Amino acid sequence: MGLFEGKSVLVLGGSRGIGAAIVRRFRADGAQVTFTYAGSHEAAQQLAAETGSTAVLTDSADRDAVIARVRDSSPVDVLVVNAGFALFGDALEQDPDAIDRLFRVNVHAPYHASVEAARQMPNGGRIIVIGSVNGDRMPVPGMASYALSKSALQGMARGLARDFGPRGITINIVQPGPIDTDANPEGGPMRDLMHSFMAIKRHGRPEEVAGMVAWLAGPEAGFVTGAMHTIDGAFGA
Ligand code: NDP
Repeated sequence: MGLFEGKSVLVLGGSRGIGAAIVRRFRADGAQVTFTYAGSHEAAQQLAAETGSTAVLTDSADRDAVIARVRDSSPVDVLVVNAGFALFGDALEQDPDAIDRLFRVNVHAPYHASVEAARQMPNGGRIIVIGSVNGDRMPVPGMASYALSKSALQGMARGLARDFGPRGITINIVQPGPIDTDANPEGGPMRDLMHSFMAIKRHGRPEEVAGMVAWLAGPEAGFVTGAMHTIDGAFGA
């Protein structure tokens, strides 16, 4: 019997990359999994068919749609908020609307989804949000909005851990370093620069991040909350 047999898991942003690895991991461990996607319809349908999970279209930039999705899927035993993206470029030149959209997806959605999930979540439920080592360290220019968004998750986790702790609900941030996905392919132009900061000079694999998420969602992690968990090959050390 799988570790998450009988458990219900909602993954926001599960069609590709780290989110897809999280969907696969929870399904392999027996959970019933629903995941959202925004742009990758085909990838989402394929993953759903392959894993026996349910794919639903919900744009994390739309606050009310996110809240409605979480409410409709509730109660969930585990919420994972993975959807997120980075914008690169000169801060003086960037479109403020694009920056605000990043904040809606990377910050507003995790907050509102976490609060909505907690309303109906059973005691002992788990909330896990994918942050970034860039919440702790930003060694290159052009990514201040992303760093801001991932640092903001740290304060959210510390605060909501206090709010939900009396019910045994934990909330944790997983902070990956470079992970080989469409957003940050190991074959990309930044590879050598990124590896130069690292002790383990390779990109991480989405499955490695999914493993940490599964541990945080599992029975051994009930005393772990309000904390950041970095998985980065010492990128930020
Ligand atoms: P990808 O771009 O490979 O995948 C992003 C996933 O999130 C896709 O499934 C995408 O779905 C979904 N998503 C993005 N925007 C939205 C949206 N508005 N609404 C719903 N779903 C959305 O990214 P990664 O897998 O690399 O990154 C996943 C998370 O990990 C992000 O939060 C990222 O910041 C973080 N991270 C990644 C690192 C890396 O090096 N890869 C390092 C540190 C953190 P769809 O395509 O269907 O829209």
